[in-house]
Order: sequence, then structure tokens, then C-alpha cells
Amino acid sequence: MVVCYKPGALSLLSVLPFYQLDFPTRDPLLKERTPPMPMFERYPFAARLFRSMGQLLSGDLTSPKLLAMASGLFGAAVAMVPAQAQEYLNGIEWKAPALVTPGKTNDAAPSDAVVLFDGKDLSHWKGAGAWKIEDGAMVAGRGSITSVDEFGDCQVHIEWSAATPAKGNGQGRSNSGVFLMGIYELQVLDSFENPTYFDGQAGSIYKQTPPMANAMRKPGEWNTYDIFWTAPRFNADNSLKSPAYITVMHNGVLIQNHFELKGDTPFNRPPKYNKHGDKGPISLQDHGDPVRFRNIWVRPIVPAEGKQARKPFLRNGDKETPIDN
Ligand code: MG
Repeated sequence: MVVCYKPGALSLLSVLPFYQLDFPTRDPLLKERTPPMPMFERYPFAARLFRSMGQLLSGDLTSPKLLAMASGLFGAAVAMVPAQAQEYLNGIEWKAPALVTPGKTNDAAPSDAVVLFDGKDLSHWKGAGAWKIEDGAMVAGRGSITSVDEFGDCQVHIEWSAATPAKGNGQGRSNSGVFLMGIYELQVLDSFENPTYFDGQAGSIYKQTPPMANAMRKPGEWNTYDIFWTAPRFNADNSLKSPAYITVMHNGVLIQNHFELKGDTPFNRPPKYNKHGDKGPISLQDHGDPVRFRNIWVRPIVPAEGKQARKPFLRNGDKETPIDN
């Protein structure tokens, strides 16, 4: 028996968006012009289903076919009900991460940064009497300078420029340094076509390790250091509890990757740790060269906080299974 089915306006409208995509059409060229949807390639059942709907619309559908289509529809409905997925939960209640408004560019100080130099004054520095401000940059003068604020673990952004025209060679060309906690030196040097010992060139941890790359810009151009610092920790008996670590990007290039410091960074003896406080200043070295600095900011950093409220567990629907290890 032939069942003639005349679709209502509503069902016609609901199928219309699919109609021209893949199933029998009265216009044989339409299929050529319109490639099938990738979804139909991946789900041939869906293609068959829509094809049947096309037949339904054209009235060319017998009752056995209709029955098959109905059972197919039922099967598809069952298949579309998502299976209950097992989920892993770590049982930690996390504190909401701090909200930080980033700067307009990634070089600009975020909302939680301590700005140590914004081009205007040297009020955040001690010992800067002989340093000058020129064109929004501070120029190294006699004597190293030390920030008033002190920091433990922190992120530091600092921009610096070697003197131009380049003067001197090796360690004598635009030498300065960023001292974390006033003790540990990340070398500042004009290392653009200026050979020196590798663990003393720009981006080195002085006398401990060279940078992984020389990403130096020409004298007179601005370099950036983005520094990620983990302060060393000490025990009550003055021994070292955990060393300092440093990660540095030089002009966006990773040059130190979680390097473990062996101690301080003197010129004339091996590095060693001497117990100091949890925080210390940022110091900028005077090595007799007019190195320029600008846009200096520091963000104290703290790890994400959470407490283990319960054992880790697996959840599957209403069932929860603790994980013992
Ligand atoms: Mg130096």
C-alpha cells in the first residue's frame, strides 16, 4: 500500500534548511552545485534519515519504509542521549584567582604592579642622586641604586638600552645589571656583536650560566627583560631550604628557563647562599657606563591557593568513588 503523506507547512519549514544539502532533489544539478555537508559524510545514518525525509516530502514512501524510518528515528533518539560520563575531581577547594586588569599592551604595568619607574621621577629608588632622567629614561650615574620597595617571589618588567654609539669592548661596553633581592645578578651588557665570556654576556646569571640565546638589539634600541623570580628559602639554622629559580625573556625570547641559582653572583669567588630575609629590593648596577632604563614594574606573585577538602574521587551520575592514592 502506498502511503501518501502531505507534509504540513511547519514540517516543511523545519526540513527546508537541510533539503538542498544532500538528499534526492528535483533539480539534479543542485547536488553537483552544493557539496554534501561533512556531517553527513561522518554520519551516514543521518544522511539516510534526511534522504528518507526527502522521499517523504515527495510522497514516494511506502509503509514498510515508513516503519523502518520510524524505528530508525527511535534508534537515533536513543543514541543521542549522552551516556553518563565518568568525571575526575581532585577534591581541592580553590580560592578564586585574583582579578588583575592587564595593561593596554603586554609591556604596560598591570593593575597589581608596583611601578618603580614610569619616566617621571626617581622617588622609588635609593642612591639615585647621580642618576639622571633624559627623554623619559633614567641614565645610570655614579653608584648603584636600590628600590625602596622589597619583593620576594615576583615578576619584573624592565626595559634597557645600551649607550650609543657603542663604546668599549667585552665587559666594558654598557655594563650594568638587574640584581634580584639586591644580591643575584641578571647581567645587563651590550652583547650586540661584542664577544665576552658567555656566562657574563647579556642575559647571563653572572658567572653561573650563559643565556640560552643572544636576543640582543642594537645599541640605542630598547631591550626588554621579563623576569620570573622564585626567592630562595632558608631554614632557622641558616641553611638553605630551597634555592632561587629564575626564568627570563629577553625581547620575548626565552633565555633562562627556571634556572636554579647556585648562590650569589660575585666576580671573585664561587657563588654561595647567605641567609637573608623573605624580601629584598631590586638593584640596578652602576658599572661606569651610561645604560638607560625605562618602564620598570614589579608584581609580587603567589601560587594558586586551595585546600584539600576531601580525597580525590570519580563521579559517575550520583555515584562517587574515592581514589586512594
Ligand atoms: Mg653587570
